Amino acid sequence: MRRTHTVFSLALSAVISAVITAGTAGLFSASALANEQVINLYSARHYPTDEALYNDFTKATGIKINRVDSDDAGIIARLKAEGSASPADVILLVDAARLWRGEVDGLFLAVKSKTLESAVPALLRAKPTDDGGTAWFGLSTRARVVVYDKLKVNKADVDTYEELSDPKNKGKLCIRSGSHPYNLSLFGAMIEHLGPAATEKWLKGMVDNMAREPKGGDTDQIKAVASGECSMALTNTYYLARLMRSTNPADKAVVERVGVVFPNQQSWGTHVNVAGGAVARYSKNPANAVKFLEYLVSPQAQNHFANGNNEWPVVKGLKLDNPALQAMTGGDFKSELMPISAVGMNQIKVQRMLDRVGFK
Ligand code: FE
Repeated sequence: MRRTHTVFSLALSAVISAVITAGTAGLFSASALANEQVINLYSARHYPTDEALYNDFTKATGIKINRVDSDDAGIIARLKAEGSASPADVILLVDAARLWRGEVDGLFLAVKSKTLESAVPALLRAKPTDDGGTAWFGLSTRARVVVYDKLKVNKADVDTYEELSDPKNKGKLCIRSGSHPYNLSLFGAMIEHLGPAATEKWLKGMVDNMAREPKGGDTDQIKAVASGECSMALTNTYYLARLMRSTNPADKAVVERVGVVFPNQQSWGTHVNVAGGAVARYSKNPANAVKFLEYLVSPQAQNHFANGNNEWPVVKGLKLDNPALQAMTGGDFKSELMPISAVGMNQIKVQRMLDRVGFK
């Protein structure tokens, strides 16, 4: 007892002397610091319009966001290197294959949230863990579509993914690296639809049809179609929508020249990928991390994904108010129905196939 009392007295006197030394102003800022709530966000969302999204969360909750930006691979590598010392609370990645990778590598903390479970359709989140938690949630979707040169290509010749490797389209294809997550996920989905042997043949056919070696991002492929370097390409929808909404005359000219097709409307539907979020495995603020993910499925945040970054909300029943997405789809489109987690699982198989067929 005596000993405890002494320790307490010592601690108390330390506080008192701290107060005396700090003075009134120092005290005020010290207590403000203690109350300040912060989450550390590791984000691969490379969209400047997201700034408003983060500011609105801080305004609504008082929780500040410290953001570290990197690409998906960079974030995963960093989390692995930091291990249990990682300051990360929330992780945002922009592809199903990467979300799956983070889950398998044990980088996420499975959470139980009625709000997230009812907002995010089961196909667009991780499979439940043994105790009913979810490792990651899709928060927005994007379709992987074909753009083509309206002057040189008939829409009917590029309205399926299979036709990208048809000999009739020899020398026409522009595509970013096969190993980029967006392509790994599409190709992983193809394994589910066609089986491995036919998928490998399909990949080989695309290599044979390339107008040039894979390089650049999706926007570069769209521009290469418009410039006549190639006449068909794959892109995520938001890159095209961004050009469609641009006031830059050069972008307008690009949009004027290219057509867009949502592939496989007569069969299994167009491939859709997710951007999603997870709570970091070693988060020191898991409650606030969940609060942030829950905010991202609120109508306000979901509208932001649709209107700010030209993605589709995961939450059903929201009114979409985006003229570019509207013009692109003519209202709606059929998307493939496949657990996005299955797509992630195939990525290692896909990478081996790419190596075998020489798809860079
Ligand atoms: Fe992107």
